[in-house]
Amino acid sequence: MKYREWLAWARSFLQDKGCPDAEVDAWYLLEYAAGLSKAAYYLHMEDEADEAAMGGFRALVERRGSRVPLQYLTGTQEFMGLPFFVNEHVLIPRQDTELLAEEALKEVRKLPEQKKPHLVLDLCTGSGCILLSLLALSDGIEGVGADISEAALETAKKNAAALNLERRCRWVESDLFEKVRGTYSLIVSNPPYIASGELEELMPEVRDHEPRIALDGHEDGLYFYRKIIKSAPEYLAPGGSLFLEIGWDQRKAVQEMMEAAGFADVRVFRDYQGNDRMVTGRRKGLEEKRNCDIMERSI
Ligand code: GLN
Repeated sequence: MKYREWLAWARSFLQDKGCPDAEVDAWYLLEYAAGLSKAAYYLHMEDEADEAAMGGFRALVERRGSRVPLQYLTGTQEFMGLPFFVNEHVLIPRQDTELLAEEALKEVRKLPEQKKPHLVLDLCTGSGCILLSLLALSDGIEGVGADISEAALETAKKNAAALNLERRCRWVESDLFEKVRGTYSLIVSNPPYIASGELEELMPEVRDHEPRIALDGHEDGLYFYRKIIKSAPEYLAPGGSLFLEIGWDQRKAVQEMMEAAGFADVRVFRDYQGNDRMVTGRRKGLEEKRNCDIMERSI
């Protein structure tokens, strides 16, 4: 078969299987499996493809047809312009989450110079994409990435090594704060936040192939926010901030939890699609806290 015929086969096979980006995925897999870039394809499209070499391409297209995400087949996903290894033990980094990384980066750049290095904690770190992109794109910070999954942490460590950031981070296998020690200037997290009852409605790629423990936010999807928001003040330096990714319909609930827990400057950010996507808040500074105590006493 000619390359042109292989590409046409892949495209229609993926379309029949209901893959959302059949055309693009066929291109990516051809490039990945046969080393044929788009430019090379146009030069060689009428050449007979080497059958043996195309066996790998066929196998990948078939796996994509069973709705394995493209990124688990190629093993990588870009996030904040950086390459990350991914596999079925970690959530694939989403473009939506770049909002959190970008805003956290702005926050990091505002941290007082004289107190450097500042410590950043990433809870439910997964592939490590949030923490590692903060480390790669700023200096003066060091980080701790926590995750309950040992296999996820293995992936994060591999990413740290590939990005040459190993000396600036540590990884801890921990159920949220359980094994976390220290005081942080910034805590970031993209915890699991899909309500258990809604998991079945997700796309097959997500529902059947991404790790359930990275998605399942228990009964109402808010389980992890309750736990994180309750404990975060103990681990935040006075004036330190908590940045949380949220689901599009969780703004009110998470905002209220943050306010009830005494966070100041609680703010909500929208993603590029206009959906509420992140809530941030600041642990009150020592002065503010003292003023509050005095007010409370005088009332
Ligand atoms: N935003 C992800 C999704 O829609 C969910 C991420 C999460 O639960 N943290 O699949």
